[in-house]
Amino acid sequence: MNREENINQLKDLSKIWDVAVIGGGSSGLGVALDAISRGLSVILVEKADFAKGTSSRSTKLVHGGVRYLAQGDVALVLEALKERGRLLKNAAHLAHDQPFIIPIYTLWDRLQYTVGLKTYDWMAGKLRIGKSRWISKEETARRLPQVKKEGLMGGVVYHDGQFDDARLAVAIAQTADDAGACILNYTKVSALIKNEEGKLLGLKVRDELGKKTYAVNAKMVVNATGVFADKILQMDQPDAKKMIQPSQGIHLVLGLEFLGGKDALMIPKTRDGRVLFAVPWHGKLVVGTTDTLREKAKLEPEALQGEIDFILETAAGYLTKAPTRADVKAVFAGLRPLARPEEGSTKTKEISRSHKIILSDSGLVTLTGGKWTTFRRMGEDTLDYFEKVTSIKPAASTSASMFINGNTNKPAEGHWAIYGNQAQLIQDLMQEKPEWQEKIHPDFPYTKAEVVWAVRREMAVKVEDVLSRRIRLLILDAQAALDASPEVGRIMAEELDKDQDWIAQELLDFQKVASKYLIS
Ligand SMILES: Cc1cc2nc3c(=O)[nH]c(=O)nc-3n(C[C@H](O)[C@H](O)[C@H](O)COP(=O)(O)OP(=O)(O)OC[C@H]3O[C@@H](n4cnc5c(N)ncnc54)[C@H](O)[C@@H]3O)c2cc1C
Repeated sequence: MNREENINQLKDLSKIWDVAVIGGGSSGLGVALDAISRGLSVILVEKADFAKGTSSRSTKLVHGGVRYLAQGDVALVLEALKERGRLLKNAAHLAHDQPFIIPIYTLWDRLQYTVGLKTYDWMAGKLRIGKSRWISKEETARRLPQVKKEGLMGGVVYHDGQFDDARLAVAIAQTADDAGACILNYTKVSALIKNEEGKLLGLKVRDELGKKTYAVNAKMVVNATGVFADKILQMDQPDAKKMIQPSQGIHLVLGLEFLGGKDALMIPKTRDGRVLFAVPWHGKLVVGTTDTLREKAKLEPEALQGEIDFILETAAGYLTKAPTRADVKAVFAGLRPLARPEEGSTKTKEISRSHKIILSDSGLVTLTGGKWTTFRRMGEDTLDYFEKVTSIKPAASTSASMFINGNTNKPAEGHWAIYGNQAQLIQDLMQEKPEWQEKIHPDFPYTKAEVVWAVRREMAVKVEDVLSRRIRLLILDAQAALDASPEVGRIMAEELDKDQDWIAQELLDFQKVASKYLIS
């Protein structure tokens, strides 16, 4: 995946792409993957970095959605369970089975969660990844050493998938790019190009690094911009009604010792009716989430003090050692692109979480909602509109059986696992230059070789790309990421042939972003 080569493709003004995708989050990447699987030519432009938006800020679950089952949304759960099975097979290096335990304190909860999760297993059918079962009080206390024991009757174990969201985004981008797609980060759509009848002919895109604007011709244009979808819809139709209501969810990252085991904790109904997860991830504990309406779509949303307090207080209700603000290694916030409710209603939880596809009069296809787990299916459903828009019947989708870049059933040990079958190539780099064997931070296993790899092979162009989405240090420990940033900047400058001014600006930019992940 080479940015310069892909930018060069923009210079061919006669080229007409079959599909142009706006947005490099899970939705846009799912569309690009499916389009390429049908033999179509595809360009995807992302205004920041891949997964810079919501797609790097999820709970990191590949799930059918136990919560949606409780709400009776059987079709959504079935679809997601199918996609969960596919992802665990096609990106085995990035998604894996994670056992969850619901601690049980009442007989009614024992009954409802045992029955509910048996149904979940049954719905997954052959794609089930582990059996749900009741476990004793002793086993619950052994597997979740730090869970509160007073009144504990036992637990219900169930299985779902867990993944690395931003790394999966990069891997999908690489998969599509390898198959011939033109994938670009830091390329922003500034306008839509239409003919006299108002039909869409393409896009105006700006290379944010090269500071040049290009015209991109395309037969079908897909708006997959998450919470920013209204902006593109308004480029299409200036008086378009707002469709998206951002709803914020935050996560706190704590030390693993707050839970104490390998299993995840799931509380289906907190005192205000939300779900709370505490999930081990890359050696830390990710605890979340919230559901707070926000008015503005932002690329770098901020956690509210009330949300941080809510998570700390709720977690304290279930853990023997109450976490405090001083224990938080990082906080990150993401925005769900929910459908805007009708006037007068402000509830978010009842609004459907399944995806929607809207075809505008101009031919613009907008994909919104859904979830990471179903990204591929969302892409397939979107490409089903290709014929409607272009009058050309595309080949059938084969994305369900496409392996994602790096896929292997035998990933390397430790933190190398996420690189899948490419881990050896990075370890080979470490032999090339002994300095690259060094770690970027003494408390974490990440090496300088991975920074070089991210620049050379994963289209990382900013310090933030490396420290937030190629290596996940910013959301694991924001202070550690800040400490590592000068060295990462220096290595990147060497690779990208940049000067001291570039490093200084990059470090300033990174400090600004990282300050939102620290809490005082
Ligand atoms: C707190 C939280 C937890 C979640 N947990 C889970 C989970 O555990 N499992 C799960 O399956 N799902 C989960 N989800 C849902 C999932 O994360 C989202 O559905 C998904 O990431 C949305 O992806 P997207 O591509 O639609 O949006 P985004 O990831 O926001 O991508 C949109 C992209 O469009 C780009 N863009 C915008 N305007 C332009 C322009 N003019 N030109 C070019 N690019 C542009 C943006 O920069 C952005 O990168 C969670 C969501 C939240 C908020």
